[in-house]
Amino acid sequence: MNFNQELAGLAVYEAGKPIELVVREFGIQPCDIIKLGSNENPYGCSPKVSVAISENSRLASFYPDDSMIELKEKLAKKYGLEQNQVIIGSGSDQIIEFCIRAKCTKNSKVLMAKTTFAMYEIYAKQVGAHIIKTPSHSHEILEFKQMYAQHKPDMVFLCVPNNPLGECLDKSDVFEFISQADPDTLVVIDGAYQEFAKAKDKAKAIEPKEVLERFDNVIYLGTFSKAYGLGGMRVGYGLASREIIEALHKIRPPFNIGVLSLLAAKKALEDEAFVQTYIKHNFEEMIRYESFARANQIVFIPSWTNFITYILDDKKSSTEVALWLLQKGVIVRNLASYGVNAIRITIGTPQQNDRVLELFSELL
Ligand SMILES: *Cc1c(COP(=O)(O)O)cnc(C)c1O
Repeated sequence: MNFNQELAGLAVYEAGKPIELVVREFGIQPCDIIKLGSNENPYGCSPKVSVAISENSRLASFYPDDSMIELKEKLAKKYGLEQNQVIIGSGSDQIIEFCIRAKCTKNSKVLMAKTTFAMYEIYAKQVGAHIIKTPSHSHEILEFKQMYAQHKPDMVFLCVPNNPLGECLDKSDVFEFISQADPDTLVVIDGAYQEFAKAKDKAKAIEPKEVLERFDNVIYLGTFSKAYGLGGMRVGYGLASREIIEALHKIRPPFNIGVLSLLAAKKALEDEAFVQTYIKHNFEEMIRYESFARANQIVFIPSWTNFITYILDDKKSSTEVALWLLQKGVIVRNLASYGVNAIRITIGTPQQNDRVLELFSELL
């Protein structure tokens, strides 16, 4: 059968490995599996969310409120915006797709870092856009400026902080870059890990309101999948000018968020204390991974997120290390498919991290 020709050059996205796969392939019990491959919150979600979901299961038979007004209003209030500056997606992943489809057609140009969130490239290629990447793996603002001037892309992705490497541009660099870009270029600031960056370092904190007051050509993306611990519920959001949000709404399918997911996201916003406690533990535990790496001559990338990336030397392949850990019941992310010999580890609970570091000692 002939398909859309753009699909020919596309590989299927390799998602983080699920617990079910480890149970099936290695016969390990779910309770013995440590899942640190998808940057989920290892403490789960707020108890307020759990209670709300179990008390409202009867809602499952109803379609959700397609206007999603309650969640939009809560987000608008949190960020000091109007509700018509908010769009909700099935994960912020879906908003990335809306942005590409709203802005790009065949032969549009999209600029991104060499090693960044894989879905930017996949969605862009689906519509036949050209991908332009900076030469360095991580975000280097000078390279972005130079590539921008050279190629005049229609769209730019800035992942601040960056997944899968963990580095983070300063806010001042992000603002300077946008101020030099053409007002017709759509700049996406992917803030999937901004909660973490903000807590660690003020220079990295990007306030959506401040960006949107200065620039009409920017969309800020946030998600409930990481800090809020709702990866399984699939809720993300975009914040932008009314003009951009209106365009994206032409692409959004009806009822793109489940009724219990909407409820979970609303409840999660009522428990910021849960998120802040998690972030505090996250950075306390991250120090252990940094110290371990230093003590064992492992190169790591300083991280502003809930994961740390260990770069392996030539003697060890990340594919082998990831498989060995998997056989022991530990799921991490092998970055070989990104062209780097590195392992990305989500920071777990203290007990989970004990086990991971014990296994790494054994490995060395
Ligand atoms: C996890 C992640 C997302 C989106 O996750 P959703 O679960 O779709 O909300 C977006 N960007 C980056 C960089 C991420 O790591």
